[in-house]
Amino acid sequence: MSVDDRRAGLLQPRTAVRGLPLYAPDVAPCAVDVSENVNLWGSPPASLRAVTSAAPERMNRYPSLYSTPLRDAVLAYLGLSEANGIGLVSGCGSDDVLDAAIRAFGEAGDEVAFAAPTFVMIPIFTRLNGLVPAVLPMGPNYEVDPQRLVDRRAKITYLCTPNNPTSTAMTREAVEYVVDHAAGLVVLDEAYAEFAPDVFTSLVTRSERLLVTRTFSKAFGLAGLRVGYGVGSTAIVEAVTRARGPYKVNALAEAAAVAALSEGPDALGWVTARAADAVTIRERLASALRELGLEPAPSAGNFLFVPTSRAPAIAREMRQRSVLVRALSGLPHDIAGVKAADGHALRIGVGPWESMERLLEALREALACA
Ligand SMILES: *Cc1c(COP(=O)(O)O)cnc(C)c1O
Repeated sequence: MSVDDRRAGLLQPRTAVRGLPLYAPDVAPCAVDVSENVNLWGSPPASLRAVTSAAPERMNRYPSLYSTPLRDAVLAYLGLSEANGIGLVSGCGSDDVLDAAIRAFGEAGDEVAFAAPTFVMIPIFTRLNGLVPAVLPMGPNYEVDPQRLVDRRAKITYLCTPNNPTSTAMTREAVEYVVDHAAGLVVLDEAYAEFAPDVFTSLVTRSERLLVTRTFSKAFGLAGLRVGYGVGSTAIVEAVTRARGPYKVNALAEAAAVAALSEGPDALGWVTARAADAVTIRERLASALRELGLEPAPSAGNFLFVPTSRAPAIAREMRQRSVLVRALSGLPHDIAGVKAADGHALRIGVGPWESMERLLEALREALACA
């Protein structure tokens, strides 16, 4: 880079990019890692077989442009149909779909409104695409106020239920109010739908402004392959597809995802059974945490959100015992439990009970000395 170039700013990254940190969670290798909300039982056996057999014949070719086989399999899984004016856009993780949706609908300077705290990537994709986050706090009991969100009249309104990191779900009434009254595009992130008592995907048939995103990274056990999708009216999906670009789901990922959706105990049956296990163990873990004097939020996902002012020290002590949980700090104080915890919380992924026993043992020791 010559001095002249530097002076002229020709090699300067965009302002929005310069201001962004790299995503850098604590990733120390640990025997028990529950710091990401992935499927801790593994991947569907049918997906493992599909990757192995697809590899030799499909790796030298480009995948399908817009992942048509995946689209058909997912729409069937969701009970939705193109005949009803519904389309599907897939992506390299649902991150990719969220990013493309913001880019497709938001002009520079437009607002993306959401209740906080929520998925960390949302303010990042918002800024990266030149938009502005409009952050509205959750209520004292993790409520999302639909009226406040709608009153903001943002170009894009983002809802996340069950919500990451709080694990809490929105009421049907609140979701429907936002979908029916928002001024612009509503993006409803259902990354944890498979663990939730109530899902809202079918609202896409009632509203033309709704895009529902989901992922193969959580219940489906394919986080390493990066596959996600959004469903909505064909007009919305077409715009997001344009903004996304071709070839985003690689051939092996597509083969694995399609296989996971097929009938049978090695495929969709495996996913459903593991999700049911996660829900049972989640409740068992929550009572164990309450016995230790902690207060996890009511969870509708495969993880628990545990406000405690000692979160950073507890996480550090647990890591020394080779158990990795996510410690969150600087959370907004509007939620009563988070305020009492001075903005600190732990996020703990749910997995097979044996790993939860190891986790509880490390937690008990950490609480004793942290
Ligand atoms: C994990 C997660 C996602 C998605 O992840 P991908 O791996 O990119 O599909 C999206 N939203 C929320 C709220 C998540 O927690």
